[in-house]
Amino acid sequence: MAEILVLVGHVAGQVRKPSLELLTLARGLGTPVAVCAGADPGVEALETLGRYGARRIHLVETEELEEYPVGWVQILADMAAETAPEAILLESTPEGKEIAARLAVRLGSGVLTDAVDVRQGPSGPVVTQWAFAAGFTVTSRVTRGVPVIAVKPNAVAPSPAPVEPSISRGGLALDEASLRTRVASRAVRQSTGRPQLTEAEVVVSGGRGLGGAEHFGLVERLADALGGAVGASRAAVDAGWYPHAYQVGQTGVTVSPQLYLAIGISGAIQHRAGMQTSKTIVAVNRDPEAPIFELADHGVVGDLFAVVPQLLDEIARRRD
Ligand code: FAD
Repeated sequence: MAEILVLVGHVAGQVRKPSLELLTLARGLGTPVAVCAGADPGVEALETLGRYGARRIHLVETEELEEYPVGWVQILADMAAETAPEAILLESTPEGKEIAARLAVRLGSGVLTDAVDVRQGPSGPVVTQWAFAAGFTVTSRVTRGVPVIAVKPNAVAPSPAPVEPSISRGGLALDEASLRTRVASRAVRQSTGRPQLTEAEVVVSGGRGLGGAEHFGLVERLADALGGAVGASRAAVDAGWYPHAYQVGQTGVTVSPQLYLAIGISGAIQHRAGMQTSKTIVAVNRDPEAPIFELADHGVVGDLFAVVPQLLDEIARRRD
């Protein structure tokens, strides 16, 4: 079976969930090869990659990619020339899409981004994408070169399939193209102590129904009680009540947690595009006709300022 290159990225100690999702998809296409870098990925990270089906782990022993991320293009292009893989999978994030586009140009290949599924078809990988706020499902195939496919985080649930991986090691002499772009500085986002929105098992999102930034504390308290992350609708973000990084939806992030709570959110199609694959959806809204109830597994028709405090009390009572 042909190899599927999976860009795992810089690894130090832990492997991020989106990489495990890519490995899960790669197993359905061919033989997964995890491509990662770092001076010392750590035994635990290597074991995790094997547990999720990486038959080979290619480790580039350098820290330079942190500063010169275009070097990934060089690494993947060189590997593609050597092993003629069936496909190359990356994350459909701003960084991942930039690498995907540059790689496709370098390989003379077709590229597909924002994939929500990838399956093996009779003539190569078939990619599913959502268009127009998930109103349409599109399936496509790359017809030229090695398919470069960027997959949205949280599109699939990672599932283990343990193998004993072989490890290949390589170095990197950055070429001129890689050296042309340098990350000059990084600003670490203030930690909230909550899980990453895109990776959280529980997401509690607040919308315009909260009526003001000062009421987002209620959403935060509920998220903390459930060990979850906080999200927001665009109406809440546009009103300046919560930062844009937390916006869920078509023009925000896509989440797919086990549990999604929509608090004072109407359920516009653009919001649904970012959360409709959540396993269980709970909505609190005082309007029984709100479209979110068409999607919700459990709905509470009521004033969120009455319902959420009761929910918090009940969670606390059951914890005691
Ligand atoms: P509203 O639609 O105003 O809903 C507020 C809800 O709160 C209502 O249903 C109301 O009944 C309820 N409510 C009010 N008070 C209470 C109370 N006290 N207790 C309980 N319930 C109460 N939106 C996104 O979220 N994410 C996106 O990424 C996004 N991208 C977009 C891209 C484009 C191109 C466009 C055109 C729009 C986009 N939108 C997006 C906006 C989207 O169309 C909606 O306007 C937005 O999602 C509405 O946010 P909301 O549900 O918080 O507000």
